[in-house]
Amino acid sequence: MTFKELHLIPHILKALDAQGYEQPTPIQEQSIPIVLRGKDLLACAQTGTGKTAAFSIPIIQNIFLNSMGDDSNEHKLKALILTPTRELAIQIDESITNYSKFTNIENTVVFGGVKQGKQVKALRRGVDILVATPGRLLDLMRQGHISFRDLEYFVLDEADQMLDMGFIHDIRSIIGELPKERQSLFFSATMPDSIVSLSRTILGNFQTVTIKPEQPTAERVEQKLYLVNRRNKINLLVYILETFEPKSVLVFSRTKHGADKIVKMLREDKISAEAIHGDKNQKKRQKALDIFKSGKIQILVATDIAARGIDVSNLELVVNYDLPDEAETYVHRIGRTGRANASGLAISFCTSEDVDNLRSIETLIKQKIKVDNDQPYIDDGSDYLELHVSSEQRDRRPRSSRNRNGRNNNNRRRR
Ligand code: AMP
Repeated sequence: MTFKELHLIPHILKALDAQGYEQPTPIQEQSIPIVLRGKDLLACAQTGTGKTAAFSIPIIQNIFLNSMGDDSNEHKLKALILTPTRELAIQIDESITNYSKFTNIENTVVFGGVKQGKQVKALRRGVDILVATPGRLLDLMRQGHISFRDLEYFVLDEADQMLDMGFIHDIRSIIGELPKERQSLFFSATMPDSIVSLSRTILGNFQTVTIKPEQPTAERVEQKLYLVNRRNKINLLVYILETFEPKSVLVFSRTKHGADKIVKMLREDKISAEAIHGDKNQKKRQKALDIFKSGKIQILVATDIAARGIDVSNLELVVNYDLPDEAETYVHRIGRTGRANASGLAISFCTSEDVDNLRSIETLIKQKIKVDNDQPYIDDGSDYLELHVSSEQRDRRPRSSRNRNGRNNNNRRRR
């Protein structure tokens, strides 16, 4: 399939060519025709699948074709794209600038955390497409800087992250101000019940597109499984950090509370780390991310949703402190290491409660993750171990009651 076969206009084809895009990604191939036909869309796709182009290209094309013959050169707001974070908003706005550069379409972006003067000026000049984070948009709406009278397209991006960050009331307030006659597109990486029911209230008669995350090139990511008792997880993490001394580690926790707890316990061990998750405001998340990216801290602890969409690639190590419930999430997590020809390591902690999740991960990746027994906190008392450890490995298993320093690891911490 080529972009031309998607019936895109030459102005856009030329821009895509300039971007170096040779062919549409699956989400683009499936979504562009639906959006061009004027249908509402519910799409399940993650950042990195090319979803920005999937919604913005057809919107640009529709706006361009509908404005042909209109010589007024007036730019009235026709499309609103809501996204949860400032980084995503900036990224989307830049992509739209690129895709529309051979048209007369104007776009801009508004987000919080900065003074609003420049943003208001850009809006006054007139825009066709506005990318926004919810809080700042509501502020500007309340001050009368925004009119939705001519709005035809509404995109809700990263819907599950929006809910996770507590934006639901803001979103409802914004949607309440939009014209009822509009085309709505809804993008979410996961489809929990809350998203499905929200989409029913926002979308009209919609079509659905689902894109499974791509499998990372597992060859470049070395994967290891550490069998550990739940209460020894933090000790094992400290051991790994002290042994490997990695320069950049992303530790995944299943819950926000868990992420905070890991950071607290690491700090008790004089290891500096930061957490990012949906309960932290934008400023705190950005700050944590900045110091991690600058190398001032080596360890970032995150929930899946908070880690998504932010560019923390080229990690040396990914630690699945908690195995994820969704096998696809595992693939997505480990894909953050071993990029750009660097070799990466992904270590997963597995407790007796994780066996079902482990099985579905191994089914998805079509391989057994190698168990590494060379660690002092190995849980050798459980039956589930027997399922996973070969007899050869079993014979080499060290005694778990002592770690390398001779400390009794079970008593090192009490929790
Ligand atoms: P997104 O999922 O929208 O954040 O896009 C992820 C990355 O893929 C961005 O860097 C895009 O520039 C790039 N991209 C999007 N569509 C294509 C395409 N058809 N061919 C090559 N790269 C693409």
